[in-house]
This record gives sequence, structure tokens and C-alpha cells, in this order.
Amino acid sequence: MDKEVRVRFAPSPTGGLHIGGVRTILFNYLFAKQNNGKFILRIEDTDQSRFVQGAEEYILNCLEWCGLTPDEGQGFGGNFGPYRQSERKNIYIKYAQQLVAQGHAYYAFDTPVDLENKRNAIPNFQYNQATRLQMRNSMTIPHEAVQSLINEGAPHVIRIKMPENENVYFNDLIRGDVSFDTHQVDDKVLLKADGMPTYHLAVVVDDYLMKISHVFRGEEWLPSAPVHILLWKYLGWDNDMPKWAHLPLILKPDGKGKLSKRDGERLGFPVFALDWTDPKTQEKATGYKETGFLPQALNNLLALLGWNDSTEQEIFTMQELVDKFSLERVHKGGAKFDWDKAKWFNAEWIKKLSAEELLPYVKDVLANKNINAKDDYLKTIIDLVKERCVLLPDFYAQSHFFFTEPKTYDMDALKSKWSDEKGLFFNDLISQFNQINNWDGVDLENVFKELASAKAIKVGELMLPFRVMLVGGKFGPQVFLIAEIIGKQQTLARIAKALETIKL
Ligand code: GLU
Repeated sequence: MDKEVRVRFAPSPTGGLHIGGVRTILFNYLFAKQNNGKFILRIEDTDQSRFVQGAEEYILNCLEWCGLTPDEGQGFGGNFGPYRQSERKNIYIKYAQQLVAQGHAYYAFDTPVDLENKRNAIPNFQYNQATRLQMRNSMTIPHEAVQSLINEGAPHVIRIKMPENENVYFNDLIRGDVSFDTHQVDDKVLLKADGMPTYHLAVVVDDYLMKISHVFRGEEWLPSAPVHILLWKYLGWDNDMPKWAHLPLILKPDGKGKLSKRDGERLGFPVFALDWTDPKTQEKATGYKETGFLPQALNNLLALLGWNDSTEQEIFTMQELVDKFSLERVHKGGAKFDWDKAKWFNAEWIKKLSAEELLPYVKDVLANKNINAKDDYLKTIIDLVKERCVLLPDFYAQSHFFFTEPKTYDMDALKSKWSDEKGLFFNDLISQFNQINNWDGVDLENVFKELASAKAIKVGELMLPFRVMLVGGKFGPQVFLIAEIIGKQQTLARIAKALETIKL
């Protein structure tokens, strides 16, 4: 029987969450849901020097906003906890010691100064099979001396002993057969002097203990894979080894290298899921959420960065992604990021969602501008303007005139071909509109057109000024609908005020 699908997202909480990380979460999530499996969140915080206040909470907020909720893990419960590696410190030591006893790892007593000297003496120094016999470790120090150093509490680490002249092979679900020559891999530290495991040891031990069936992670982890695979073997866990899938990178828009936070700053688009402020440097990075993306749009665009379903379809609901996602259709090559395309996804999702679904997002946008309106009124307006919105803040730009009268006018548009005759038209329009009791857009249009024809002015010449009077500029939905929605009193007041302004 196939084992239960259990996948994990295992971030190190060291800063904001790059969209590449969100895509890793998404692929994990889709695969888990598709296979009735479990999606697990594990916090990999064993590197205390990289600890960043607030970063773990930030990751949880990202997961929540994206709607990619783990089934198990830090903050979500489960039978394989604790799910924060710093709380599992005592678990790892025995595995490191087992590796030493088996001859697959060794104690190394080199001080930071020793290592610094070596780095200065040897260009591109690596602690590996070529250099380890020149270092202070249990391969060069007699056994008894090693024991006394340990008993005395001399600071030491445990390093993996990379085998000589071997190739490590594995099958990657995206890349196919991959092999590494062990000469190219250094003797990575497994257990640090403070007794904490490094990522390499902790990730293998925890993937084993948490019964992880598949590892989906970014391509940047590929060079670490041989170390992990050897550890799985040395610890005797070959039969339980997860299947590997290294996801293609998200590339800069020009395709030259991995998309970085700096590219976002340089080119003016977000690279993180949510806003992030580094607590030490106060450096800020903007997020998709705060820029005005719907989580559905971010998930959708990320799914298509590296995957497609072999058809032309581009807009997918989460359920469709769960049904259609397949690892066979994840590309090997990196996927170029395209900001215009990203915005297109958001515009499509704004059109696709109902006014009811958009309501909470639009309320937030308007509340930021101190506009609070009744839900029913808002829903009518959302339906009228959503086709014109690309990012959520566009709802303000496209609809503020429904809530407040224009503060400025596009005077060029208002005055273009202006004449006294047109001024008289709008004066008369005020009196005519004043007599209407059933305030309905269709009736308003009829009255407007009849008056224009009585005065022998082309309707086309009057529509633009009328629009500018009501909204301030050359934008917005059908103008008689706007008049209907803002109501009689506002319409008359706005025409009167605009006429005053034109005279000035
Ligand atoms: N802690 C690693 C990270 O920060 C996890 C890599 C992996 O999934 O193995 O991405």
C-alpha cells in the first residue's frame, strides 16, 4: 500500500516570504489536497544567529491570507510535534553521535580562528576530503585525546564525512535522474558547538520522524540534496526516504537569474506576500496583499509560474488547481516573472468574484480613506466599477465620487468648447431635474436629451461636461446611473457647484 501523502513547508523564519516561497507552499498544498494527504508546517529555526523577531508570526499571517491552511504543524497541532525545531534540540544529538560511531561523521575541534587562518591561507577553502586531514578533528587527533577534549568540554562540531569517489544518485520528480560527485560536496557541519543541529541534520531527522512522503522545495536546495540522501542512507532509513521534487526558480523579468527583493524595488513591484519591515534595519518591503492583490489572484498566477494544464486555460479556482495539478507538468526551467501579467490575473479575479465576495476587500480600501457606507450601497457600486479595477485600491479611484463630491475638476475637459449656451443648458437642467420625483437613470437620460434637442445642442457635446461635474474627471460608469445612485440632491448640488467653478 502506498504510504500516506505527508508534505511539509519548512521555512526558516529569517525575514519576509518571497513569492517563490508562496509557490512552494501552494504546490505542497495542492499535492496534499489532491491525494487526501496532510500539509504540515515546520519551523526550521535552529540557526539562532539568524533569528528574526516576528518572522514566524509573519509566515502564519501569509498562510492565512493565502488561504493555504496547514493540516498540521506549528500553530495547527498534530501528533508529530513539537513542530518548531528549536524545541526539538535534544532529539538530534543521538543521530549525530550514531553517525560518528558508524564512521560517517567526525568530531571537529577547529576554532573560528583556525578556520579563519585556513580561509586566508587557501583561496576558496572548503572543509572537505582534500583538506580534512590538515585540520583538528577526530581523524587527525588520537582517539584518547579526542575523548579527553570532549570530556573537558572543548567546543566542537560534528561534520559529515563525505565519501570519496562516489556518485550519489536520486530521482527527482521534476528533473528526472540527478547525480552528484561526492568530491564536489564539502563536509557539512551536522551538529553545532551549541548542541543545535544544522539545517542538514534537522531536515533529514524531522522528515523521517514526521513521516514525510514527498519533499517539494525550491531549486536552490538541490546542491544540498546529496548530503540529505547520504544521511537518509547512513541512518538506515532508505526505505522511508521521501520522493524529491525541486521546483524551478522564479526568474527576473529578463530571465537573467533568480527574482530578488531588489528586482522588485528596482522595477516597482512586490516580491513578498505581505508587507515586511526588518526589525533590525527597519528596511521595508511591500507585499502583494497591501499592493491590492486578491489572494486568489496571487495563488493563480503563482501556479502558472512553472506549471500549466496543457490547455490555454489561465484562470483557475483553487478547486480546479487541486483537481488538475500534476508534477509531470511542472517545468524544469525557471519561469520568468511578468508584472503586467500578474496584474492581469488580479483584474480577471476582480471581475470573476461577486460583489458580495469583494465586499470585505473594498470596505478595507474605502475605510483607509475614511469612507464607510452601507453594504447594499457598496455592492451596487462594486458591480458598476469592478470591470475598471486592476488592483484593489482602484476601487477608491473608480468610485470615490459615489461617496464624496469632487474636490477638483478636470477643467480642460469641462471648459472644452464651453459656451454661455451650454451654461444655460445646465442651469435649465437643474430646474428640469428638480421636477423629477421618480429619480431613475433612464428618465434622467430622457429629460437630458429632450432639453438638448429643444436647445439644438448635440447631446455628445454635453455628456463630457456633465460627467466632469458629477465625478471630477473623464472616468466612471454610465453617467445617468451615477446621477441615479448619488441621488437628486447631490446631482443638483454638484451641477450648481461646477457651474460656479466654471465662472471663476
Ligand atoms: N528551512 C529551509 C528553508 O528555509 C527548508 C528547505 C527544505 O524544504 O528542505 O527553505
